[in-house]
Amino acid sequence: MTMAADDSRMPLAIRVIKESGRLELDWADGQITGVTHSALRKHCRCGECVARRRVHGDISVVAGIRVVEVTPYGANAVRLTFSDGHGRGIYPFAWLQYLSTQP
Ligand SMILES: [Zn+2]
Repeated sequence: MTMAADDSRMPLAIRVIKESGRLELDWADGQITGVTHSALRKHCRCGECVARRRVHGDISVVAGIRVVEVTPYGANAVRLTFSDGHGRGIYPFAWLQYLSTQP
């Protein structure tokens, strides 16, 4: 993955850790942050999930959900596919950085 010189929000690396169900991100400043796969699924911002959240207030996430695929999407985002078959969510790097720094 190449990094634009002026974009500090692009991770140097993204690791999917299936055992712990975490996504780890390496940043240019040496920091490593992580976010759980279930949190990523819960915060999916695709049209379908946004609509579902509006109706039900929350997204129900199956236990033990995992990210099964990370696909580059444009220069500043990835598309994540989950083990429940959902693969419409686009996650801008800035959004991943935000989620992974939440307690
Ligand atoms: Zn979604």
